[in-house]
Amino acid sequence: MTQDISNNESSSSSNLANQNSPFRGLGGLLRENIRNLTPYSSARDEFQGEASVYLDANENAFGSPLTEQYHRYPDPMQYAVKKRLMEIKGVPTRNIFLGNGSDEAIDILFRSFCNPGVDNVIIVPPTYGMYQVSANINDVEARKVNLTPDYQLNMEGIAQAIDEHTKMIFICSPNNPTGNSINRTDVETLLANFNGLVIVDEAYINFSRQKTFIQELTEYANLVVLQTLSKAWGLAGLRLGMAFASEEVIEVMNRVKPPYNVNEATQQLVLEALQNVDQVNSWIKQTLAERDKLVLWLKQFDFVLDIYPSDANFILVKTTDAKAIYNHLVGQGIIVRDRSKVELCEGCLRITVGTPEENITLINTLKTINLG
Ligand SMILES: *Cc1c(COP(=O)(O)O)cnc(C)c1O
Repeated sequence: MTQDISNNESSSSSNLANQNSPFRGLGGLLRENIRNLTPYSSARDEFQGEASVYLDANENAFGSPLTEQYHRYPDPMQYAVKKRLMEIKGVPTRNIFLGNGSDEAIDILFRSFCNPGVDNVIIVPPTYGMYQVSANINDVEARKVNLTPDYQLNMEGIAQAIDEHTKMIFICSPNNPTGNSINRTDVETLLANFNGLVIVDEAYINFSRQKTFIQELTEYANLVVLQTLSKAWGLAGLRLGMAFASEEVIEVMNRVKPPYNVNEATQQLVLEALQNVDQVNSWIKQTLAERDKLVLWLKQFDFVLDIYPSDANFILVKTTDAKAIYNHLVGQGIIVRDRSKVELCEGCLRITVGTPEENITLINTLKTINLG
């Protein structure tokens, strides 16, 4: 099987041209209080030049108890990181928002665009759980339009669920937990016809044969693409999520975010990590090769009923007895994700692709299962 790894990170940059979509700008989408919001103005906002004595931010002038110097507040706009991301992703810095994980970007989208108790969003289960949680936290109704049995969008259902208070539609592609990509033409139909924001969560795009939607930012002003350094980039512990969108949307998100939402250690370490594109691309290739091996091996087991096609670094496996298999693995110190209680995922375990050694351990342990 040949893999198209066109979502490998690149080092070339291109510019976004002018926006050109049927979407008429943020107009009525934005919450009134956010439209009128005067954002917090930090010391670092009010003076941005170079100086020799900084007595404006109540920091500890003597330093920090660490070897690295962390006594100064970080850059609120993370300019150095965005500049490097511009080179890798080909998106101008003004079209990039950075957050404390993409989970923060999701929450900020709710707080910017959805009036609590009034507006609604559409989610398409089975999908990433944070959209629902973030909606609940913000007291926003999440209208569920389940995916079809082959895990694609129910376009008619979505059209019916939309009303004048629908502000956002969340699409995860490749989808977590099912692993497949959502048909591109369906997403494009939503972008071209929906009056609100279409959020395309590409947490797993580096593993996918599909093209990123980042290239479509020039076409659709209502598109928000979410990506993260938590998966292929191996930096889950640093918490860095990215949103790519029109300047208008990014400007709003920057106004709503906490002033110093990405800490200095993260900014420095991410900048260092972003030099290692080749390492990441090589891991992506290895992960895909391991995923293919895992699929072949798992097919041999009688208790495996189905393995869904994956564009991600995990596979969804339908089994005869998910709970028993899960418990057996836990007993041997191997943790997978039991998704069997999730609608349309009955009997399913979600298994992350590990190192070659970990995958062999998993398979050998599965061989010792006796489901009686
Ligand atoms: C893992 C994951 C994320 C990542 O969130 P971070 O907060 O950036 O770690 C986002 N979306 C989906 C669908 C995920 O599976």
